[in-house]
Amino acid sequence: MDMKTVHSTINGFQEVLERKESELVQVLRKRDGIAIEKSADQMDEIQLATERDLAIRNVDRESGLLRDVKDALRRIQGGEFGTCMECESAISPKRLVAVPWAARCIQCQEAADRDRQEGTESVGAALLSAA
Ligand SMILES: [Zn+2]
Repeated sequence: MDMKTVHSTINGFQEVLERKESELVQVLRKRDGIAIEKSADQMDEIQLATERDLAIRNVDRESGLLRDVKDALRRIQGGEFGTCMECESAISPKRLVAVPWAARCIQCQEAADRDRQEGTESVGAALLSAA
């Protein structure tokens, strides 16, 4: 890739990321308005609690994604975009097209996901033995 191609590719990613950022900001702003409804009916209570849980989980996921997108935009400004934050090798262009906010190369991401999964599993096991 010559410098001009690299430059316009980065611009393309920046556009995608900025669009994603404003989309997430909007979604999260709307979620802020979720009223916590009260109901005397117990079944409704359970139903509402489940919906609330789901909404909170979505907000968690979306704010995490928003953070990743903002980080990626910062990396574009800093000229570090496309470099793995763990091992500093180049993230494959194919991966960046699929996940423009990727901060790690596929190897480091897989290792990080594995760590996280193990963490979640042990928390789940602890909860089970407590019950
Ligand atoms: Zn890496």
